Amino acid sequence: MADQTYDYDVLIIGSGPGGYVAAIRAAQLGLKTACVESRETLGGTCLNVGCIPSKAMLHASEFFDAAANGTMAKMGVVVEPKLDLDTMHAQRIDAVKQLTGGIAFLFKKNKVDWKKGRGTFVDAHTVDVGGEKITAKNVIIATGSSVTPLPGVEVDNDKQVVVDSTGALELRKVPKKMVVIGGGVIGLELGSVWRRLGAEVTVVEFLDQLLPGMDMDIRKEAAKIFKKQGMTLMLGTKVTGCTVKGDKATLSIEPAAGGDATALEADCVLVSIGRRPNTEGLGLDKIGLETNKRGQIETDHDFRTKVDGVWAIGDVIPGPMLAHKAEDEGIACAENVAGQTGIVNHAVIPGVVYTWPEFAGVGLTEDEAKEKGPVRVGKFPMLANSRAKTNHEPDGFVKVIADAETDRVLGVWCIASVAGTMIAQAAQAMEFGATSEDIAYTCHAHPTHSEAIKEAAMAVTGKPIHI
Ligand code: FAD
Ligand code: NAD
Repeated sequence: MADQTYDYDVLIIGSGPGGYVAAIRAAQLGLKTACVESRETLGGTCLNVGCIPSKAMLHASEFFDAAANGTMAKMGVVVEPKLDLDTMHAQRIDAVKQLTGGIAFLFKKNKVDWKKGRGTFVDAHTVDVGGEKITAKNVIIATGSSVTPLPGVEVDNDKQVVVDSTGALELRKVPKKMVVIGGGVIGLELGSVWRRLGAEVTVVEFLDQLLPGMDMDIRKEAAKIFKKQGMTLMLGTKVTGCTVKGDKATLSIEPAAGGDATALEADCVLVSIGRRPNTEGLGLDKIGLETNKRGQIETDHDFRTKVDGVWAIGDVIPGPMLAHKAEDEGIACAENVAGQTGIVNHAVIPGVVYTWPEFAGVGLTEDEAKEKGPVRVGKFPMLANSRAKTNHEPDGFVKVIADAETDRVLGVWCIASVAGTMIAQAAQAMEFGATSEDIAYTCHAHPTHSEAIKEAAMAVTGKPIHI
């Protein structure tokens, strides 16, 4: 397959879940492959400063919380938790080290060359990496995304007073008062970590509800659950400025709709208002590639950009900024580069918020589904699920949205301790075009949280058993 005109068949810029997976798949398909990465370790945002370290802190702090908030005592395990934050951080760092090292091992095993440094286009088939000009028949842009800055609120992760998600993973002490700007996924996950470890957490969210993009029932219930856990929620509120004096920050906040400004003090402010695609310094002008209004690189269904031989995947292109979406696009794109037919079904990409309980969904929200035509909805509370009840996990529900005429499942939404695991079966069912009846008549093991999905599917036709 190797074309002697070029150094490589395919060169990938960025080694996040999009880039590293594309590299491995391309190599598996017999393509001579290299991957450019400017970080010290492979794995991108996800493995270094995103999914993995955040889950390490969420998992550890969940144990602390269960001991501190009486959940364990209810089950006869009485412990007085003592926080050893250094050890908690050490296990986070170890998880990142092992997993990023694992990618380096997989690169070696699959004969993917890692070009260390920042990649910049010279032309559509040539990328400069630290002075080395590397040529490739195909170039895949997988440069990912970075934190969106908030004008007037300057992040300084070293000082640990105003931080972004990377800084919030590494706090050396538990802040007394933490203000989270943005009630999205990062704000709620990392806000939960520090709330569990003892911080008073206030979430300032511009919109009227948390978690934009999720089903409205989930968003409303999320507000109730986080309030019950002790978070203060300031919805419909915007931050207009921030001053830092020593180790304290003072934010000025206003109602989003306009009104009087008030001050809000904090020992730590987390800026988590979204992420933006990384295209700066890539030299897109050298290849005549422009970004859209949101700074993203547009592609067709096969991940081809409008420049011949240049492809793009992951957070840098439109769609949800999720690791598994980037991975699936990496596989499909590599297959397309190799002349196969790689496809990603963007209508069935699950999303999960890894708080306690977890919030998960796949497909259309009820509002989106109703815009397309009449729907039938089945709901089932976790309180009526025997396993959740036995485990002292009363919060949450499952909601199945089906087409009223065909019964085809259009969306599934859940709040449950293990909603992130439960949603996989909904995604698989939808991928196979399942009806709610298909799910309702599938035998689910008892006692499991997943039985709530079966019952919600039964509720679509009004026939759940346990409620
Ligand atoms: P990235 O992972 O951002 O990787 C891009 C890589 O390209 C980076 O390593 C960067 O250094 C490199 N790069 C950029 N430009 C160049 C260049 N010019 N030359 C060389 N290298 C370059 N998603 C989930 O699905 N589940 C989660 O639980 C989850 N948790 C998250 C938690 C946090 C705190 C954050 C910040 C994100 C989280 N995400 C999660 C989102 C997830 O990390 C991203 O969607 C995913 O990493 C995107 O993958 P990617 O390959 O497109 O880009
Ligand atoms: P987000 O888009 O999830 O949430 C940002 C929130 O900030 C929104 O609710 C928005 O309305 C609000 N906001 C925007 N400007 C504001 C302002 N000036 N004042 C107050 N609120 C404001 O973004 P995020 O939480 O930063 O996460 C970034 C990306 O990373 C997301 O796209 C997400 O998909 C991904 N991520 C995923 C996971 C996961 O899958 N579990 C975890 C973390 C991050």
